[in-house]
Amino acid sequence: MGPDDGGAAWCYGQAVKVSLPVVESRSAVYEPLAPRPAGFAVDGVPPLVDRQGRRYTYLRLSVTDRCDLACVYCMPPGGEDDHAVRRELLSFEEAARLIRVFGACGVRRVRFTGGEPLVRKDVVELVRLVRDTTDVAERVMTTNATRLRHLAGPLRAAGLDGVNISLDSLEPARFRRLTRGGELADVLAGLRAALDVGLDVKLNTVLLRGDTDDEVERLVDFAWDAGVTPRFIELMPLGEGAKLPRSARVTAAEVLARLRHKLAPAATHQGAGASSAPRGPARYHAAADGSGRRVGFITPMSDEFCGSCNRVRVTARGDIRACLASRRALSLRDLMRGGASDLDLAWALHWSLTGKADGHFFVDGQVHEHEHVGMSLIGG
Ligand code: SAM
Ligand code: SF4
Repeated sequence: MGPDDGGAAWCYGQAVKVSLPVVESRSAVYEPLAPRPAGFAVDGVPPLVDRQGRRYTYLRLSVTDRCDLACVYCMPPGGEDDHAVRRELLSFEEAARLIRVFGACGVRRVRFTGGEPLVRKDVVELVRLVRDTTDVAERVMTTNATRLRHLAGPLRAAGLDGVNISLDSLEPARFRRLTRGGELADVLAGLRAALDVGLDVKLNTVLLRGDTDDEVERLVDFAWDAGVTPRFIELMPLGEGAKLPRSARVTAAEVLARLRHKLAPAATHQGAGASSAPRGPARYHAAADGSGRRVGFITPMSDEFCGSCNRVRVTARGDIRACLASRRALSLRDLMRGGASDLDLAWALHWSLTGKADGHFFVDGQVHEHEHVGMSLIGG
């Protein structure tokens, strides 16, 4: 990919307006792409930096909108009613090509997600393709781990660096109810297999008040005993989560209060380790015993972290979504299938960030923007 335009260098200050119609679907609002301006990439493909100065280095790529579970806060019973059919999904070659373009724009880390990424047939081959044909430095996955027992080894061999495993309960019957049919034993076997093959593992938990919030300490002890970091994610009013009562939401402060005796009070920091730069929205509290163990908190509701957002999402259908909380989208798949060059795609990535808001709006009265947009459809 190289510059092919003359003229002055392009910048976000150049207002770009197009008069094509906006197309709206249940889960997305497609705004037309403005023509690539003269001057874009004249000095090389610019890094993805938005108007607010936020730099995007992290791509969450959904590989399917389907799942073998149906967690009560995520997926309707029986699944979503508009799952993508095969030809609507990005092919592995299309996904790898996009990742190369993201890489040229400065993205260094890719997370495969879904839906449940492990239900996508041959997903191991996608991981291998991304390792072999792109220059992203880190490939990780978020999974419910039901199929990880047998796939951890092949994924590791194909170049996966780590997994975040979702685990909301250690009670088999409760787990089955919350996931509408999941078997806790499968997940625990998947976790063990991931550790055995040397994947970096974290556990992610979404708590529900009056349901799983009594398992906070047990989940932390379990994770620490397994040698992994537990993280608590606040429930967001997205998709099925928007239908749950506000009272179901448990704030990070409440969880922290329950763990006060285990955690050093002033040891909050961001990122993968004390010395590394922030890599995501999680804040970590170190164990009070000085063992180096940690608990993570992801606080989209109580402590908005949008100012340091470094991530962009691509759905299984190939829509780029600059913000989880907005339905604004652009179909990169249609651009590719319409003959777009890599430079056109790079422009599309930049353009999709031009309208990104400063922060999200998970507030009452504006739930309409989110309630149709479940995490499994966007890529959680
Ligand atoms: N199926 C995989 C899994 O469960 O890990 C990956 C996709 S899932 C959508 C990614 C993460 O989103 C999970 O950790 C899940 O708990 C979280 N999630 C789903 N709906 C949510 C909501 N409404 N609020 C907060 N987190 C949610
Ligand atoms: Fe499936 Fe993950 Fe959503 Fe649960 S949270 S229904 S495992 S996509």
